[in-house]
Amino acid sequence: MGIYTAIFINIEIEIEIEIKKEGRNKNMSHQPLPEKLARLSDLANNLWWSWNPEARQVWRRLDYPLWRTTTHNPMQMLHEISPAQLERKAADASFVRHLNKVMLQYDHEMGNTDSWFKTDHAELDGKTIAYFSAEFGLHVSVPIYSGGLGILSGDHIKEAGDLGLPFVGVGFMYPQGYFRQRLPSHGWQEAEYLQLDMDKAPVNKVLDKDGNELRIAVTIHDTKVQMRVWHLKIGRANLYLMDTDVPENAPWHRELTARLYGGDNENRIRQEILLGIGGVRVLRKLGYQPDVWHMNEGHSAFLVLELVREIVAETGCSFHEAALQVRPQAVFTTHTPVPAGHDAFNFDMMDKYFGHYYSRLNLDRTGFMNLGRHQENWGEAFNMTVLALKMSGMANGVSELHAEVSRDMWQEVWPSKSVDEIPIMGITNGIHVPTWIALPMADLFTKYLHPEWITKQDDQAIWERISEIPDEELWKIHVELRRKLLDSLQERTRVRWIQGHRDATQVLTTGAFLDPNALTIGFARRFATYKRATLIFRDPERLKRILLDVERPVQIIFAGKAHPADDPGKHLIQTIYNIAKSHEWGGRIAFVEDYEMHMGRYLKQGSDIWLNNPRRPREASGTSGMKAALNGVPNLSILDGWWVEGYNGANGWAIGENMNYDDPNEQDAADAESLYRLLEEEIVPLYYDRDRDGVPRGWVEVMRESIRSNAAVFSMRRMVKEYTENLYIPAMNGEFRKS
Ligand SMILES: *Cc1c(COP(=O)(O)O)cnc(C)c1O
Repeated sequence: MGIYTAIFINIEIEIEIEIKKEGRNKNMSHQPLPEKLARLSDLANNLWWSWNPEARQVWRRLDYPLWRTTTHNPMQMLHEISPAQLERKAADASFVRHLNKVMLQYDHEMGNTDSWFKTDHAELDGKTIAYFSAEFGLHVSVPIYSGGLGILSGDHIKEAGDLGLPFVGVGFMYPQGYFRQRLPSHGWQEAEYLQLDMDKAPVNKVLDKDGNELRIAVTIHDTKVQMRVWHLKIGRANLYLMDTDVPENAPWHRELTARLYGGDNENRIRQEILLGIGGVRVLRKLGYQPDVWHMNEGHSAFLVLELVREIVAETGCSFHEAALQVRPQAVFTTHTPVPAGHDAFNFDMMDKYFGHYYSRLNLDRTGFMNLGRHQENWGEAFNMTVLALKMSGMANGVSELHAEVSRDMWQEVWPSKSVDEIPIMGITNGIHVPTWIALPMADLFTKYLHPEWITKQDDQAIWERISEIPDEELWKIHVELRRKLLDSLQERTRVRWIQGHRDATQVLTTGAFLDPNALTIGFARRFATYKRATLIFRDPERLKRILLDVERPVQIIFAGKAHPADDPGKHLIQTIYNIAKSHEWGGRIAFVEDYEMHMGRYLKQGSDIWLNNPRRPREASGTSGMKAALNGVPNLSILDGWWVEGYNGANGWAIGENMNYDDPNEQDAADAESLYRLLEEEIVPLYYDRDRDGVPRGWVEVMRESIRSNAAVFSMRRMVKEYTENLYIPAMNGEFRKS
């Protein structure tokens, strides 16, 4: 007796809300609109509005309280707005003018007469690029992403449309999306899945010629599973999302695509068959004949098998001959140097799901298994990255350092080539600037850089004019954004408090004590262990001295989800959560629950400094730091991923050295020491060095340099142009290797 052990139980709460109004045409499902406002329906049905400031303004003006309570969801607004408010707005001439002006611009852009691709690559008219990804981070109202990979896909498709590329995306419409994170007072993350109400998302069911829901069949083991398809307009680009939740399927098959990364490895292979093989069939059914097939991550790599199968079925040729045709059209992006991040399936599982399939590729079992054969730490298996590398004409990593690591990691696929000859190039990630820029900051750029800065965003000359912005104005906008961050965190907490989900301690941990004038460090990302969220607590006493300084206080805001199966990641969250609760830390640490795009924007726009300390070289690129940098929030980061290329000595701070370690403990010690010294000796003093007007001149200089040196280089525009010129166009022209 007397020994108490705390047992924390992870409860997965599932809330099922029936999908309402199923089967009706989505466009007609919201209430009728007054004639003068009829085009609100078009605007709500294309996420273009979400990165167009004037269009966002339309929704704010339409019904501001509703805009807030729906968390910026126009489709939901059109369902819930009162008819009286609609009539009022239809009679508001200034509002109607505003709407008409926005729709004029919308129609012009959708006409695609003057885009970059149309103008610079007119000779490629009629070509199509298909882009496959298991997740897309587009907007808070479409929760089908979990982290960096999804946000990158979302940003990629937005920019591809902005540049006028003939671009079609394929993915899943997970009806329960990714989980919502809940943090009870013991701090052990709980997962809550909410059923998405499709009527209130900007998606439309794809119908066949006869007006029935389209169906695509894919054989899973011994059963034909049916999928339906949803269409999203993403600016000029089209995105098709599949799901299996249809009445013809058995209940367990209806669940197959319910959740992003849900279930075990068996569920995983089934999802990947649906994505790769089903995705090709969806595009064919819709009449697409893509010239380029882009596999974003290995999840979709089965698509190359389906392309081979099509050719073999049509011509009866050998696998080898079919592969010679497929390979030059296929490009592949690998996203992580962490071995466990590459899906692999054991051969029994491959037999189970592909036993009926490989003969249709004119392959025997050995030939088939060789396409993905790889030694995992648990045995030999079929590895999706190996398949993708073998079957694509060209591949890339997502930063220069990551490409270098990947060439080394995957040299085994090309035993006769030296490391430098491995066909994996580096194309460093970027961010969709209109999505991630804070509005007041954008206004400042419009005023001082160029009225058309957004269309010239990858022209470095524009950013050189950043010195025109007076210190006072830049600082004032930043202080405003920090205020907005803290307000939004308090509002979130207040809403949760009212809903009865929180006790008083929880309220304190999520930021009630945050000080609007203290140096605020932001740290938000997935809680994977290699990201070392707790590194800064390595010497607690030293950190306390930094945070609790009476004259120069510092506070840290943490946010992030651990994968539902990642207990070590959940432990990190719990550790920080308990620190946030502890009196000893004086309310200087906050852990905000349920990190997603919406709150993420506030965090990256309103923190004073953005912290990132992964275990080098595991962070393939990282993009949150780019979002911060664009908004004048300097990075304090390990020289890993993009920051190796971004850091220039004056635009933020580098933790540790530009080197790799063999001993992780030695690495942690060295990096923590470097982090403390930077805070103590450089960052805190510079931040609190104010002139008579209260402006930290030296700090503002770093902010300015952060924007000047990073905005264009790490824009999604620069990135998609590189993909176009280095991957898509050569693939269209048949320039890549065939064997
Ligand atoms: C940008 C972003 C990420 C990716 O951040 P990393 O720096 O790659 O860890 C993850 N989640 C959200 C919500 C984001 O906005």
